[in-house]
Amino acid sequence: MAIQCPKCGAEYDVTLFAFGRSIQCECGEWVDLATGHRQTPAEREEYMADPKGDKLYVNLSAAQVRRRLKGFGHGVRKIQSAGKNRAVVIHTATGQHLAELEAVFGDAKVSDSEEGLEAGGGAG
Ligand SMILES: [Zn+2]
Repeated sequence: MAIQCPKCGAEYDVTLFAFGRSIQCECGEWVDLATGHRQTPAEREEYMADPKGDKLYVNLSAAQVRRRLKGFGHGVRKIQSAGKNRAVVIHTATGQHLAELEAVFGDAKVSDSEEGLEAGGGAG
């Protein structure tokens, strides 16, 4: 299988990568093995596609959000990182389901906008 440079599209055989390493492409861009893996055509499509739904910003890392939402089935479409210790949940939950979704994060600050998280910030 080939790992593609995200910048110029040059392809490198996976065997060129030492485990967990990056190599530098001819164009100067560092090509990361893990990133390359993520960018198989099907996954890249999913990555690029903006799922329809509402956004819920949470003051937790995407990994933490995923952990909390494990098994939560009410219309969660996608969880994306939105910065350091911040994630955005793209969901189609409304009403009671939305209330349940927000309840999952209980102690963590939740907002439907990035600005909402900034207000009253001081997380540290
Ligand atoms: Zn390149």
